[in-house]
Amino acid sequence: MRLVLLGPPGAGKGTQAQRIKANYGIAHLSTGDMLREAVAAGTEVGRRAKAIMDAGRLVPDEVMIRLVAERIAQPDCARGFVLDGFPRTRAQAEALDALLAERGERLDAVLEIAVDDDALVERISGRFACAQCGAGYHDRFKQPEVAGVCDVCGSREFVRRDDDKAETVRARLEAYQAQTAPLLPYYRDQGLLIAVDGMAEIDQVSAEVLEKLEAAAR
Ligand code: ADP
Ligand code: AMP
Repeated sequence: MRLVLLGPPGAGKGTQAQRIKANYGIAHLSTGDMLREAVAAGTEVGRRAKAIMDAGRLVPDEVMIRLVAERIAQPDCARGFVLDGFPRTRAQAEALDALLAERGERLDAVLEIAVDDDALVERISGRFACAQCGAGYHDRFKQPEVAGVCDVCGSREFVRRDDDKAETVRARLEAYQAQTAPLLPYYRDQGLLIAVDGMAEIDQVSAEVLEKLEAAAR
């Protein structure tokens, strides 16, 4: 199964991608995570991307397309993948179509996680993640079951993202509206778009995602 998750920053793409990965045994490809790893490792891509990410703008298409092309050729993507944070521009979407066509593959569905703007800022400002395994949490909506201990791996170390600050969030929401939202009609025209209500609770969103994916596969 090959999926794309679309939605503004903070909509819940990463949260749902982790569950889709667990449910279908497919790879979770978060281009934001790939870039943050490149920044931490000090690679050339990381050095190029850091200032752009801190400003809440988009990293150039050719950098992102190269990263994704290399990633989907890895063996763990053979059974499929869920893309989270890519494509974010029309050029990236067209490049993805071309990359998949070369491989004799295509997307099965594009899930739109729809969330009101007001909720996004609250979701982003309360977000944190396990420093060890990356499991996502929220100060108000998803605390670890045992305070201070990751549910998944037991680590006691958590991190917050540098770009989850109010001033950067505004730029990221603008980038989404200007450059990424136009992908909704692009995929609707291809008959791939499936909308889910991202305003519901996390478990309810997951239930709707799985139900709609099953229905689409029939
Ligand atoms: P994205 O990957 O789209 O930027 P995340 O999955 O990181 O978004 O979610 C942003 C924050 O909101 C996280 O802290 C997450 O725990 C929380 N969250 C995700 N989905 C929901 C939801 N349906 N209701 C409330 N909080 C949510
Ligand atoms: P995310 O973790 O998806 O919120 O991404 C964090 C940041 O990484 C974004 O604000 C961008 O600066 C950059 N980024 C991630 N994915 C892409 C992409 N597909 N195209 C351009 N920039 C990206």
